[in-house]
Amino acid sequence: MTPNRDNPLLNLDYEPALENLGDDYYDQVAAAEFPQHILRFRNDQLLPQLGLNPDLVEDGHFIEAFGKFQGIRPFLALRYHGYQFGEYNPFLGDGRGFLYGQVRGVDGTLYDFGTKGSGQTPYSRGGDGRLTLKGGVREVLAAEALQALGVTTSRCLSLVETGESLWRGDEPSPTRSSVMIRMSRSHIRFGTFERLYYLKRPDLIKKLLDFVIDIYYQNLPDSSDRYVLFYQELVKRVANLVAQWMAAGFCHGVLNTDNMSITGESFDYGPYGFIPTYDPQFTSAYFDYGGRYSYGNQPLICRVNLEMLQLPLMTLISPRQLEAALNQFDDYYAAAYRESMLKKLGIEGLNIAEGNELLDKTLEVLKTSQIGYHEFFAALTDQFNWGWREDSSTILENSTIPSADWETWRQLYYQVLSKIPQEKMDEVSHCLHQYNTQTPLLRPIIESVWEAITSENNWQPFEELVNKLQKK
Ligand code: AMP
Ligand code: MG
Repeated sequence: MTPNRDNPLLNLDYEPALENLGDDYYDQVAAAEFPQHILRFRNDQLLPQLGLNPDLVEDGHFIEAFGKFQGIRPFLALRYHGYQFGEYNPFLGDGRGFLYGQVRGVDGTLYDFGTKGSGQTPYSRGGDGRLTLKGGVREVLAAEALQALGVTTSRCLSLVETGESLWRGDEPSPTRSSVMIRMSRSHIRFGTFERLYYLKRPDLIKKLLDFVIDIYYQNLPDSSDRYVLFYQELVKRVANLVAQWMAAGFCHGVLNTDNMSITGESFDYGPYGFIPTYDPQFTSAYFDYGGRYSYGNQPLICRVNLEMLQLPLMTLISPRQLEAALNQFDDYYAAAYRESMLKKLGIEGLNIAEGNELLDKTLEVLKTSQIGYHEFFAALTDQFNWGWREDSSTILENSTIPSADWETWRQLYYQVLSKIPQEKMDEVSHCLHQYNTQTPLLRPIIESVWEAITSENNWQPFEELVNKLQKK
């Protein structure tokens, strides 16, 4: 069938940026043909970023472009390796996806459209190249939830159900199939560089890094030190990202180096989980027996992943400079985490000592009481009033917080609030609303949404949940 040239999604100004790098970095592949195409989700919030008016983009346009894959070619399965649970795996790569295209957003950012579930590629390793519908639903929800909490994340542009039956060990099977489009600031991973190091191709590492810096690190000065400046900036971005996850109570689940973006953006949401209560040992992936990627281990693991990346980068940057840059990680992380957590308490601009004290006491209360992590911040947001700066006993007066530290915490929070001028109280409230949610994406909520879909094909709870997450 010839593609419909009136389709605004096909008429976007696709840029062959990665394609122009040459075929050392990818394989051209074709999309699978699916028996059905039912649009289950379209992310209208993203369309204006692409210069599109949602009212002018029909469901049929989504299906044609992102279900039937007519029009824009070539599709590129990206090549990469990676450390999985600490073991090097040279057999990775886009095994069930490809780079559909790259588009410049109205903000000047170059966005990737990457597929997930679009069929087999040379990297499928015996896998079917498919995405389960539940997996697609889960990724849509994770990205919208993280976005709402201020996390730098990829988002799903569309999810199309494709009418196949899939067999999976971790879902009641047969289970339904889907194909997703993920919009991200690059699908280049740490593992993309690791592969080139493994293949002993410093020339390709240099070419790729120049590309990455030119496109995704435009904030760096154009200097002869650009490689080391890049790594310093990446260390900072990753520290910021993991701090955002920790504050959001998010456990990614599979922090292999093929799931770490070279731009410091969060992406690829498989067996993730939001913590129900503050518990550093919370582990979301059922196959992570040792808890390597537990919630509390994430900062350490991200640092380890940055350290592994030094091997490919050593072809361009001295080990001494790499080490010095990585040594900044802990300080960046501590500052970013403190800042993110204080924002969840409605507080901005506190000095370091006071900030640390309030943070420590908050974590202590959350840990010892084991009250709901998200519920605590939701209650704070919901009940906040400026009477709290007059009388500490009114702070969350209707909640029972079973912690020996509760009174100390209240006193401390009261002291911090009482130093904020009265006319700034609205800003506290605004900040609480901005960094907290009344709709935490806890497992039972996802399961209940999925239950309605799988048992009655009822998509209403899913749609309502997405609306709530997007409005917050
Ligand atoms: P992930 O766990 O989604 O990050 O995937 C890890 C690797 O396994 C990547 O190379 C994927 O492309 C590949 N992969 C995961 N699921 C499938 C599948 N059903 N078919 C083919 N490849 C897959
Ligand atoms: Mg992955």
